Amino acid sequence: MSTPPSRYGDFHVHTIYSDGTATPEDMITAAIEAGLPSLGISDHSPFPFECGWVMKSSAVGAYTEEIKALAAKYKDRINVFLSIEADILSTGLYNPDDYDYIIGAVHCLTKNGVRFDVDEAAEISNRAIDELYGGDPYALTDDYFEAVSEVVDVTKCSIVAHFDLVAKFNERSPRFDESSPRYLKAAKEALRSLTAAGALLEVNTGAVARGFKTTFYPSSDLLKEWRRLGGEIILGSDAHGTKNIAFKFDDAAAYAKACGFKAVKTLSHDGFIDVPLV
Ligand SMILES: [Zn+2]
Ligand SMILES: [Zn+2]
Repeated sequence: MSTPPSRYGDFHVHTIYSDGTATPEDMITAAIEAGLPSLGISDHSPFPFECGWVMKSSAVGAYTEEIKALAAKYKDRINVFLSIEADILSTGLYNPDDYDYIIGAVHCLTKNGVRFDVDEAAEISNRAIDELYGGDPYALTDDYFEAVSEVVDVTKCSIVAHFDLVAKFNERSPRFDESSPRYLKAAKEALRSLTAAGALLEVNTGAVARGFKTTFYPSSDLLKEWRRLGGEIILGSDAHGTKNIAFKFDDAAAYAKACGFKAVKTLSHDGFIDVPLV
């Protein structure tokens, strides 16, 4: 059974090279079956410490070679791009010049010498708020958005992933008000920094696919502010398996349109180009 062609590529997916469940080739053939014109494979960059969900440093060479070989193998059926989801803690552990584009992300913060993941579990975020930030959730969100504001400089990315990842658990386990002046001030300052840096913001459907949220990253308040600042966007599913490739992209496009956007970007072999939102 073939699927009607999608107008949107998916530029954020994972494979077994990091914490995905499918091989790169399985992801590519699933994207072809889903009718996608393009797929960017973006496994997690290595960390300078043990971590179960990132690529091992020793695997980076094999990863880049395999994706390039698969891009050549399938070039008549889909545009495959080689990317990496570069965390700000991965400096020096990948060469930005080796990739078609880089996705930049903040997944961890360090406070008082203690490193913690912001997207691992609500209990971890709550413990960080209570034990490291004196019970003040906005002190944590301030630190998160300050780190995000530097993600382009640090990672050399052209796409910023899941801008408000810090709110991943806030819908089901609320600890802060995403419409509060303090939260929005820090987030909007980060958006202004990223506008100046010229990166695309990702409309990321991953937390909806995995049942953590009912709305996409970033929140509508922040996506509207990004639009007001003249920023541009691209779609990413953050799929960790074949079934979530391009998850709810038609809904994501409608969401972007409702927030004032006229187009989303897609990557072609000539660079990022507009796909009009109709
Ligand atoms: Zn991520
Ligand atoms: Zn990801």
